[in-house]
Amino acid sequence: GTGEERRLRLAMQRQGRLTEGTTSLLRGIGLQFESYQQRLLTPCRNFPLDILFGRDDDIPEYVADGTVDLGIVGRNMIVEKEARVEELLPLGFGYCSLVVAVPNDSNIESPEQLHGKRVATSYPNSTKRYFQNLGVEVELVVLSGSVEVAPSLGIASAIVDISATGSTLVLNDLRTIATVLESEAVLIANPETVESSDVKPNIDRLLLRIKSLLAAKQYKYVMMNAPRWALPAIRKITPGLKSPTVVPLADPDWVAVHTVIQESEFWEVIEKLREAGASEILVNPIEKLLL
Ligand code: ATP
Ligand code: MG
Repeated sequence: GTGEERRLRLAMQRQGRLTEGTTSLLRGIGLQFESYQQRLLTPCRNFPLDILFGRDDDIPEYVADGTVDLGIVGRNMIVEKEARVEELLPLGFGYCSLVVAVPNDSNIESPEQLHGKRVATSYPNSTKRYFQNLGVEVELVVLSGSVEVAPSLGIASAIVDISATGSTLVLNDLRTIATVLESEAVLIANPETVESSDVKPNIDRLLLRIKSLLAAKQYKYVMMNAPRWALPAIRKITPGLKSPTVVPLADPDWVAVHTVIQESEFWEVIEKLREAGASEILVNPIEKLLL
């Protein structure tokens, strides 16, 4: 190395739907920083990283032009800005979709039927590309916000907008007819700096920490008691990461089994374990998991 280590820069949303998820992710990997400051760059006390709080719209560009090395932003925003950035890791929060929606009482059932009609959106690039790929000509009405009211104002026949639960659409008497894009928050990097030797080691350290946090969320640590004869069946049901830990109990006919179970199949596995003879099943969350 050059001796002098350069501090990393990461951009995140200052205030909005991604702020809480991003803050808890960064705190979850042990970074200590003031969560809201007027100053431009907020330093982490215990890692060579400075955080830039900004508008989510600007983050892809900050990363692409090297103002910052890393960013956390919705994939929808990267696609919309056509930013030249490298996606390092999906982060498991900020789930939403960019959808085409029409008024409930509209007779339009598919995006093809919007040929020659007006479509309101604050995602002009994504929308344009979507309809171009379909070979459908639409007139874009670009709005910076409150896109969902455009049809009732008579400004457009349809909208292309972000929807997570769909409640905003329902509230405005709209229904989804197609999905343009599925999105979640992602960690992005400038393609050049991510390979440069003065920051790569620290980016790798951050990546390992984030991956261990995300992996931990997918598993539960499970302890149970079982009669010794039930062990072969239990091992089949729950192979653990390598193999379950088996600890003898004072009663020689019994053992304690420690294992991890994937969150996604948790209850199915627990039911099978009980059928196989396991009892006194104790479940703990896992804070970090380094695989
Ligand atoms: P900023 O002031 O930073 O520009 P904003 O108002 O443009 O904020 P938000 O509404 O906070 O943006 O949304 C930020 C991101 O959160 C979206 O780009 C999207 O990736 C994600 N998101 C998740 N759920 C939703 C949702 N229900 N509506 C809008 N965005 C959502
Ligand atoms: Mg924005």
